[in-house]
Amino acid sequence: GVVTRFAPSPTGYLHIGGARTALFNYLFARHHGGKYLLRIEDTDRARSTQPAIDAILDGLTWLGIEGDGEPTFQFERSARHAEVAEAMLANGHAYRCYLTNEELAERRAAAQAERRPFRIRSEWRDCEPGDAPTDRPFVVRLKAPKDGETVIDDLVQGRVTVSNAEIDDFVLLRSDGTPTYMLAVVVDDHDMGVTHIIRGDDHLNNAFRQLGIIRAMGWPELAYAHIPLIHGPDGAKLSKRHGALGVDAYRDEMGILPEALVNYLLRLGWGHGDDEIIALDQAIEWFDLEHVGKSPSRFDLKKLENLNGHYIREADDGRLADLLAPKFSLDAAGRDLLVRAMPELKARAHDLNQLADGAEFLFAARPLQVDDKAAALLDEDSRRLLGRAHAALAALDRWTHDSTDAAVRDIAEQSGVKLGKLAQPLRAALTGKTTSPGIFDVLALLGRDESLNRIADQML
Ligand code: GLU
Repeated sequence: GVVTRFAPSPTGYLHIGGARTALFNYLFARHHGGKYLLRIEDTDRARSTQPAIDAILDGLTWLGIEGDGEPTFQFERSARHAEVAEAMLANGHAYRCYLTNEELAERRAAAQAERRPFRIRSEWRDCEPGDAPTDRPFVVRLKAPKDGETVIDDLVQGRVTVSNAEIDDFVLLRSDGTPTYMLAVVVDDHDMGVTHIIRGDDHLNNAFRQLGIIRAMGWPELAYAHIPLIHGPDGAKLSKRHGALGVDAYRDEMGILPEALVNYLLRLGWGHGDDEIIALDQAIEWFDLEHVGKSPSRFDLKKLENLNGHYIREADDGRLADLLAPKFSLDAAGRDLLVRAMPELKARAHDLNQLADGAEFLFAARPLQVDDKAAALLDEDSRRLLGRAHAALAALDRWTHDSTDAAVRDIAEQSGVKLGKLAQPLRAALTGKTTSPGIFDVLALLGRDESLNRIADQML
């Protein structure tokens, strides 16, 4: 069966490109009824951190693309990596190289002076076992093929050919015996039974080196799908300047729902006709590598916001209330009010921040803070109108959307003004803002006492 993996290096947050790579691996595996594994590539001890590991796991959990089984930690497997390097020494596909740092530096400088690329061909490659010094530090290098070419039929990029002259005898084990990243990836992919490698196309060059190790070990070869990176709206590689934030920032700062981000990431580089709104189970059914685009996709915040607005409107009212609850520190009654208001509130929000702004009036303390635009509506005439409305509303037997509607319309008519002339200052008095749910919904949600008190605060 199909086995995929996502293999992030925990040197920073889970960024949007990594999340998309994870998603594609997840979808491909699920589509084929296979397994999707997570491997934390923590071999760079200086740059790997626990907070980064936590952020990656947390982000993936939030997005709902968790791996099958426990994650593999690459560093723990160092002994196994070294064992494979030893096996390659034994089968003649690797060699101990005693070139010193000075020798390497000299050769690099010479190559530079002659303007030719520096590729290591070590004379230790063909030395007789008896000629090797026993008292000098060495690295273990792959005996890479010198002639011919290596071909990869990439499932996204198509056929890619590299001349073997371009691939040098790279290091497998450092002089301190630690494995290099290149070796670790290949050994782990093999041991984890990975069949398909789906990752950013910045790793395409590595694939040719990694294939060298696979062939040296006689292991089964894998399928590769190198997906184009994400670019900013201006076509340059996505960077912080474009809002290339950690996934946690989309959640915590931008108020994005996970299903919206997943849908957005899916469409970023993969398509299914003109379909824009594709839920996860539908994506599992449809996902393939044939429809991954070959050119970089451009990040488009507007599209993400639109999708987010859609998923907010679709979301359960109780769930949305729970997401907002910490912002208002609500008790049970407050939460209940928020749930009742939600159908109106969510119709006009593109993110959870806007949703919270819209809900603010429900929990605001009196006297309300009135924003400038709303304050401009509360001139003397309007405040007098509010006074009349207050009297009519206070006289109502029943306080409902419809009864308050009738009363407010009556007052507008009796005063010879259009409904808006009264409804707008009423909204300003009740919410402190110029936009809100329908004014009779607001009256019903706030209830009689709170509504009358807020009107009284502003009326003449
Ligand atoms: N750890 C690598 C990265 O984060 C990915 C390696 C791979 O997918 O083969 O870029």
